[in-house]
Amino acid sequence: MLNAESLNAIFRPRSVAVIGASRREGAIGRVIFEKLLESDFNGPVFPVHPTATYVHSVKAYPSIKAVPDPVDLAVIAVKRDLVLNVVKECAEAGVKGLIVITAGFREVGEEGRKLENEILEVVRAHNMRMVGPNCMGVICTDPQVNLNATFAPAVPRRGHIGFVSQSGALGVTILEHAAKLNLGVSMFISIGNKADVAGNDVLDYWRNDPSVEVILMYLESFGRPQQFIRLAQDISRKKPIIIVKSGRTKSGARAASSHTGALAETDVLYDAMFQQCGIIRADTIEEMFDFAMGLANQPLPRGNRVAIITNAGGPGILAADACENLGLQLPRLSDEVQAKIRKQAAAEASLGNPVDLLAAATEEEFRHALSCVLQSDEVDAAIVIFVPPVVTDPIKVAHSVSRAMEGSDKPVMGCFMGVKGVASSIQELQRRGIPAYEFPESAAKTLRAMVDYAQWRSKTISPPVRFQVDRPAAAEIVEKAIAQKRSRLLDHEAFQMLRAYGFPIAETRIGRNWPEIRDAAREIGYPVVLKLSGEDILHKTELQAVRVNIQDEQALQREFDALYRIFENQTGRSDDVRFLVQEMAAGNREVMLGIHHNPKFGPMIAFGLGGVWVEVFRDVVFRFAPLSAEIAEEMVHSIRGAGILKGVRGEPSVDLPLLIESLQRLSQLALDFPQIRELDINPFIVSPAREHCKIVDVRILLQSATDKNV
Ligand code: ADP
Ligand code: MG
Repeated sequence: MLNAESLNAIFRPRSVAVIGASRREGAIGRVIFEKLLESDFNGPVFPVHPTATYVHSVKAYPSIKAVPDPVDLAVIAVKRDLVLNVVKECAEAGVKGLIVITAGFREVGEEGRKLENEILEVVRAHNMRMVGPNCMGVICTDPQVNLNATFAPAVPRRGHIGFVSQSGALGVTILEHAAKLNLGVSMFISIGNKADVAGNDVLDYWRNDPSVEVILMYLESFGRPQQFIRLAQDISRKKPIIIVKSGRTKSGARAASSHTGALAETDVLYDAMFQQCGIIRADTIEEMFDFAMGLANQPLPRGNRVAIITNAGGPGILAADACENLGLQLPRLSDEVQAKIRKQAAAEASLGNPVDLLAAATEEEFRHALSCVLQSDEVDAAIVIFVPPVVTDPIKVAHSVSRAMEGSDKPVMGCFMGVKGVASSIQELQRRGIPAYEFPESAAKTLRAMVDYAQWRSKTISPPVRFQVDRPAAAEIVEKAIAQKRSRLLDHEAFQMLRAYGFPIAETRIGRNWPEIRDAAREIGYPVVLKLSGEDILHKTELQAVRVNIQDEQALQREFDALYRIFENQTGRSDDVRFLVQEMAAGNREVMLGIHHNPKFGPMIAFGLGGVWVEVFRDVVFRFAPLSAEIAEEMVHSIRGAGILKGVRGEPSVDLPLLIESLQRLSQLALDFPQIRELDINPFIVSPAREHCKIVDVRILLQSATDKNV
């Protein structure tokens, strides 16, 4: 990532040339040129055309080098095979920024990719910045700039939203939709193939830009996810980022990857990443705009208590259901608040929450009821539902809602349903910055997203703790395995590695024959556990190769004989057998902890219920390392089965602080040893008493040589 200021040439140029500004009406270069003039750009615009002497009544130049004034930004819309040459000429002419609209590069195959790389080399060699190729351009509504370098027919009004779209075609639709919803945009960029300027560069540029208060992103792939995580984590503290990441389903992912040449990535990664960065994930573009309406114009709610004010019972109940299904609370309003509302409400109105003002409610009754709930400290937000009856004018209701909100710092969502006169009242609300929806579910979902974001933002995230560990001991194990070209650590190596990082391990000995096993069990003390161990023994339980709770030497010998036969059947060998003799862990609940190191995304830490239940419930959360204490704690609490750990039916909670600490230690291990591709602690047998919490099984896989440098 280059320095953010270099993007000034793209977003805040002082002069622009359009190369390929054709005289033919409707040609893309021509449309862009017209849009630039229409947007009243604050600087000169130069059309460049090989033969035309003028374009759209403006004097044209045969090449960029013929333009007499310095040019900051060149918008390139020439045929694909001419682009490289044009870019070279731009470099010679001292142009600082390029927007390459032309398509036919990386996205169409190998030849296109080569050409794109050649162009990129020229761009890098001359310290230029380039947007695209295969993009639809850039908008900046800052009155000092007024740049519309796109061919989009509709331009949204000036406002505080920054918008990044990876898809050009969708960009057009998106701009139209934003205009329709009256959402104000500060800057828009379609990044296309992201050869040079990518989403991360734009985020970095907007990070400290006060004109961008909310960031919307439509993305198909992530080039540098680890960098994205760092950036987004920082930005989300100050301004919300709402993302639609397409390719959620498998076929969607395939389409997205054949389109961008990106790797197919699983959705788990994204969920973990977004959660951890405070990113608001929208499932659809429509939902992204729903959320944007709330986040761009309304204050964040301080809690999750919602009041619903309505003039129709049915929609009120719909809204109440939607809120409760999403975990928002609908507290019954106190008698005092109800009495206050009652002063200007029908005697039969039911005011508990939902506050149903009945069909004949006037705009004044709406205003009064809304200001009463906003002033009370019993709710954090309100949804106003209006279904037009014959008598009341929806536009007047919209005004009343806006008046009631004056001086309040709580978010209000409008939901105006039905047909008659509603469209214009929805627009009226939106013009006044009040999010307005046609259906209550959208209002409730938006509030939920706002509550989540507010909660995330209020959380402190402390720097990751560094524990005192024996790193050299662990390094020795890893290096030895790599030198011997082994990608799986032996059981005792894996245990040693964890011990070096301060994990509580069940006392474990290796035995190769009966006398060794017998002595090991005597030293550990009965009851013991006997397991087969070795490279060809992967899932021990499936082979019946784990025998627990062995009470005495006689029983141990029986199990030894049985396991020995299993070993011979399994491996066809009768020598080189290895057993683990282990203390019997006393805990009664099992969890799993793990590392999953995706070469592109970096190491992720997993936590879930363990033992046999892992496969059944798939109750696992993932977060990226490094884990702060807060994230580790959140992980432990966010699995569905957290209740089992905290104790059900009077059973005491297991030692949660130990689990939280263990996750942090695992995070440290994952970062210290990127060679670890996968690590599975399963199970960690836990109990309320710390001394009874023991790891009894671990598997560690190292990156094989082939995927080391991906
Ligand atoms: P694998 O995962 O290869 O099947 P494990 O070593 O995880 O084998 O053992 C399977 C199950 O046996 C564990 O989930 C646990 O319930 C039980 N178990 C294994 N070792 C012990 C032990 N030391 N103390 C108590 N129970 C154990
Ligand atoms: Mg296991």
